[in-house]
Amino acid sequence: MKILEEKILSEGTVLPNNVLKVDRFLNHKIDPQLMFQIGEEFARRFEGKGITKILTIESSGIAPSVMAGFVMQVPVIFARKKRSLTMVDELLTASVFSYTKREVQEISVSKKLLSPEDRILIIDDFLANGEAAQGLVNIVKASGGELVGIGIVIEKAFQNGGDQLRSKGICVESLVAIDSLANKTISFSKNKEV
Ligand code: 5GP
Repeated sequence: MKILEEKILSEGTVLPNNVLKVDRFLNHKIDPQLMFQIGEEFARRFEGKGITKILTIESSGIAPSVMAGFVMQVPVIFARKKRSLTMVDELLTASVFSYTKREVQEISVSKKLLSPEDRILIIDDFLANGEAAQGLVNIVKASGGELVGIGIVIEKAFQNGGDQLRSKGICVESLVAIDSLANKTISFSKNKEV
């Protein structure tokens, strides 16, 4: 997605440990117009797949997911990282090692919100080692619903999450894929460009 690549080049910065900082449009300040275009692009890529719900994880997966849900006219559910007092229903849970926080987090979704009849699209902001996405896949499996695919805003293709998920037969669509962040230089994968 050309416009997203341009935004990453103009506003993203590379931090130590291969972390891309995009808090000027996705992770802290949010660019609603760009999020809407991202939503439209996810809707285009998963068109005709009969998706009934989008599942994401708080907090940075929510903005692109809501836009995709708006365009696709389906509800969006986000897995919570901290249990709230209002979560009194039975929960579907998974353990996820957080790449940026360097700790294991238990994520949870109320059992009532997903059903075996659902055809679910997972969306997240980044795909690195695949921990967050795999946690969401485990929640979909526990719900009995069908996983249609995974939509990722930024895939760090030099880490192995994408390969692992695709080797399990899961359809993973990334809007941009990054080959390298070495020497603080952002280099995109040519074959995954749109
Ligand atoms: P994974 O679980 O695939 O290893 O990492 C994905 C999660 O870690 C994403 O939900 C995202 O929040 C965070 N993450 C991984 N790599 C980066 C990065 O380079 N930049 C930012 N901002 N977040 C990242």
